[in-house]
Amino acid sequence: MSILTPEWSAGLYLVAAACFILALRGLSSPRTARRGNLIGAAGALVALVAVFLSARFENVPWIIGTIVVGSAIAAPVSRRVKMTQMPQLVALFNGVGGGAAALVALLELSHVDSPWSGLAIAFTVLVGAVSFSGSCVTFAKLQELMPTRPITFPGQPIVMGLLLVGAIAAGWFVVTEPSLLVVGILLALGLVIGVLFVLPVGGADVPIVISLLNAFTGLTVAASGLVLGNVLLLVAGTLVGASGTILTRAMAAAMGRSVTGIIFGAFRGGSTAGSTAVSDRPVRSSSAEDVAILLGYAQRVIVVPGYGLAVAQAQHTMAELATALEAKGIEVVFGIHPVAGRMPGHMNVLLAEANVPYEKLQEMDEVNPQFKTADVVLVVGANDVVNPAAKTSKGSPIYGMPILDVSDARQVVFLKRSMRPGFAGIENELLYEPQTTLLFGDAKESLTRILTAVKGL
Ligand code: NDP
Repeated sequence: MSILTPEWSAGLYLVAAACFILALRGLSSPRTARRGNLIGAAGALVALVAVFLSARFENVPWIIGTIVVGSAIAAPVSRRVKMTQMPQLVALFNGVGGGAAALVALLELSHVDSPWSGLAIAFTVLVGAVSFSGSCVTFAKLQELMPTRPITFPGQPIVMGLLLVGAIAAGWFVVTEPSLLVVGILLALGLVIGVLFVLPVGGADVPIVISLLNAFTGLTVAASGLVLGNVLLLVAGTLVGASGTILTRAMAAAMGRSVTGIIFGAFRGGSTAGSTAVSDRPVRSSSAEDVAILLGYAQRVIVVPGYGLAVAQAQHTMAELATALEAKGIEVVFGIHPVAGRMPGHMNVLLAEANVPYEKLQEMDEVNPQFKTADVVLVVGANDVVNPAAKTSKGSPIYGMPILDVSDARQVVFLKRSMRPGFAGIENELLYEPQTTLLFGDAKESLTRILTAVKGL
């Protein structure tokens, strides 16, 4: 006997589904993202309560126990994770979602009553297992628990092909003669396929694969909605699948790459990981006081933030410096590259946290024509997103990626700690150009020194 009538459950499911759709709408802009997130979380709570009260009242201590254990692990991990580690966290949570859907489908095997339900189970188990093990490998790569470069071995495409054929055969048996043995084989094949799917992906492409696996998890959850006859899972899974697919395509486009190029690139010899060799050619370096004078005499400054700003947690100091320059009548805008940092919207989130007004953040297409007329461009911990090799060097792993045209500017100041390259592992010729000055050091410390000097001008 359940507490909620089917009509009440359906009503609450509708409320939860509406929350998920509104959440996605909110997440489409930095201005509304926080509200969107809260609406999504509220929808998830409504869904959780509705499912709990709609089910027969059995195994209640077990259910409450798992909710408590899950929350006790997830809440502190989410609170403690650094912004730069967010892609890893998303990978892990996403993988757990796919794995959970696969396990639920496995347990539903005894309820197979038509070829369609068998097909839904086979799909959920296979794609859920791929998503789980693939996400674990992406987590290990991003956390540097294993090499981030593409890992390939001779005959890998053939092994992958054989595994896929085996999975289709096992899936066929799940539909026609379901048994725990064939579902177990399908699960094992899915786990191995997930690992081999992600191993050849390297370097900058790993976060894109996370988004793709996220889309897989969405499809798995939608299929498990069919298995369990649960409309809410179907709706939520479809939303995750569709938005994950759109995000994957958007990220790939922002990096000038195709999704197939990312997945199969390593087999064609187009690895995304460059060399990390550091050249010893001379560069022009400067002191914080000199940079302050350069900025103090400018009329228009464009700041280009990148991953280093996030690492140094320098967003507040950066915002203070912008305010100090504006107080002297200097115009300051921020040029935001769509994949600056390590996740979409990374720079928007950081600068919003430091209360930089949204209208000061200009997207790539808007800011690019302005570099020619800017007096100084201050590049704070960015590298790949301003690297002209993306336009000029055909063999480069970032060739074709749209970049911020910082090289058009009269004066460019880079704040970075060393001559090490960025995420793609390739040298940046702009560092050696005559209009470029480097201020070596942690971005937060350098900005603090520049700020002090600007205030004293
Ligand atoms: P990069 O990784 O190219 O460069 C970061 C720079 O920051 C380096 O030059 C590094 O130099 C410097 N840096 C690191 N720590 C500090 C610090 N504490 N203080 C000062 N400088 C520091 O970052 P970009 O933002 O330019 O480019 C992002 C890269 O990530 C691109 O290749 C993109 O394709 C990739 N990527 C982004 C995704 C996204 O969605 N945003 C997703 C997937 C990949 P040094 O070590 O010398 O200090």
